[in-house]
Amino acid sequence: MKVLKFGGSSLSSAERILRVMEIVSKETNCIIVLSANGNTTNELEKINKAISLGHRDIANSKIKKLKSHFKQLSFELIKTKRYFNLITSKIDEIFLELEDMVLEEHKYHNKNKILSKGELISSSIFCILLTEHNINSKYISALDFIKTNEHNEVDLKQMKKSISKLIDKNSKIHITEGFICKDQYNKTHNLTRGGSDYTASLISQALGAKSTEIWTDIDGFHNNDPRYVENTKPIRKLSFDEAAELAYFGAKIMHPTSIHPCKKGNIPVLLKNSLNPLDRGTIISNNTCQSKIKAIAAKDGITVIKIKSSRMLQAYGFLAKVFNIFDKFKTAIDLISTSEVAISLSIDNTSRLEEIVLELNKISETEIDYKQSIICIVGDDINENPGLAYKIFSEIKDINVRMISFGGSNHNISLIVNQSDKIKTINSLNKCLRPTITMSNTAK
Ligand code: ASP
Ligand code: MG
Repeated sequence: MKVLKFGGSSLSSAERILRVMEIVSKETNCIIVLSANGNTTNELEKINKAISLGHRDIANSKIKKLKSHFKQLSFELIKTKRYFNLITSKIDEIFLELEDMVLEEHKYHNKNKILSKGELISSSIFCILLTEHNINSKYISALDFIKTNEHNEVDLKQMKKSISKLIDKNSKIHITEGFICKDQYNKTHNLTRGGSDYTASLISQALGAKSTEIWTDIDGFHNNDPRYVENTKPIRKLSFDEAAELAYFGAKIMHPTSIHPCKKGNIPVLLKNSLNPLDRGTIISNNTCQSKIKAIAAKDGITVIKIKSSRMLQAYGFLAKVFNIFDKFKTAIDLISTSEVAISLSIDNTSRLEEIVLELNKISETEIDYKQSIICIVGDDINENPGLAYKIFSEIKDINVRMISFGGSNHNISLIVNQSDKIKTINSLNKCLRPTITMSNTAK
C-alpha cells in the first residue's frame, strides 16, 4: 500500500485536478491525502480574521467569493447533472456553517473549524469526480482517525486502530484530508499550516506503507532556492536526515515534521511533480549517494539573541538556566554558539520574545538582532571533508556572518547572515555545488 499526498498547487485548477485524477487512476492500493485547493487556506485565514474582528461585511463578501469559486470549479470538473447537484449541495452545506459563524457572536467562532473547510471541500470534490469517472474509491474522514492529545501530539497507536477499521479491502483507493484532525476534546483541530505532508507520513507509519509520495509542482528538492538562484537542479537522492535539515531550514517543498514518521517506519518518501509526472523526482530514504555538498536552503525571519554574563566565567549551570527560560515559554532554539562570556542563539518564533527577554535580563544582558536568515548547507559527512569549510567561507568572504554552527550533525553547516545578504550568500555558495550536480544526477 502507498500513500500519495497532493498539495494545494497540484489542485489549484480544474485542469490540474484532472491530472491528479489521471495519476491516481493508475494506482491499485493507495490512500490519497488531499490539501485544500490552491490558496484556499490563506483565504480562510482572512475570513477568520474578519469574523474575529467583527467585520461581518468583509467576512460575508469573502465567503461569497470563495463559494462561487468552488461552484465554478465544480462546474468545470463535474459534467453529469446528478453529480454536479450533489457537489453543489455539499458546498452549500459546508459554507452554511461559515455563514452561520458570521452571524454568531464573534467570540464563539472556532478558527480551526473555519480552516478545516478547505480540505473538506477539496476531498468532497475529488471523491465525486472519481465516482463520476467510475474509479472505485472510498472516502474516509481524517476527523475520524487523527486525534491530538494534551501535548498536541498525535497518538499513533490509537490512529492505527481507528484507520484500520475504516479501510475497506474492496476499495483500491481511499481518499482523505490532510492537515485536519480532532483535539483531545473532540474539537476540530489541525497539524499546523503545511501539515498535510505530516498527515501523509503519519498514515504511512500507522499502516506500514510501502512508500509515501508527496506531489507538488516542482521536480523534487532542488539544490538551492529556485526563487533566488538560477539554474538550480533537482537532487535525486537524499537521506532522511539530510531532507529533515533542508526542510527545517527553509526548503519549502515539504513540512519538516513529515520526515520523522517515515524515517521511523523506514518508508521511502518520493517527491514528485504533478505537472511533470514523468520526472523521477527526489527519493528520500536510508540510502544516500556520496557527494560533498548537496544542497543549500535558507530561512528568513530569524531572530538572534545574544546573552552576555560575567557569571558564565568558569561557572556551571548557566546554560541550563538559559534553556529553562526557553523551555518555560515553549520556544524552540535553532542555532546556538557559545563563548566564555556570551551565548548567541537563534529562534524563529518570536511570539514569547518579550517574556523571554524579561527573564533573561534577570541573569544577563541581552542584545537582539532581528531580520536574520539561516543558511543551511547540507552534504554527506560534511564535517569530515578537509578543505570544505575553507571552500564555503572563501566563497562568501565579503559577507558578514553573524553565527556559525558546524559539527552539530555530520551533514550540516549552518550560518546566520543579515536577511538583506541572503540572496548574495546563497548565490555565492552555489559555486560550492558544482561538482555535486553531476554526481547526484548520475546516481541511480
Ligand atoms: N491547507 C493547509 C495549508 O495551506 C495544509 C497544507 O496544505 O498542507 O497550510
Ligand atoms: Mg505544503
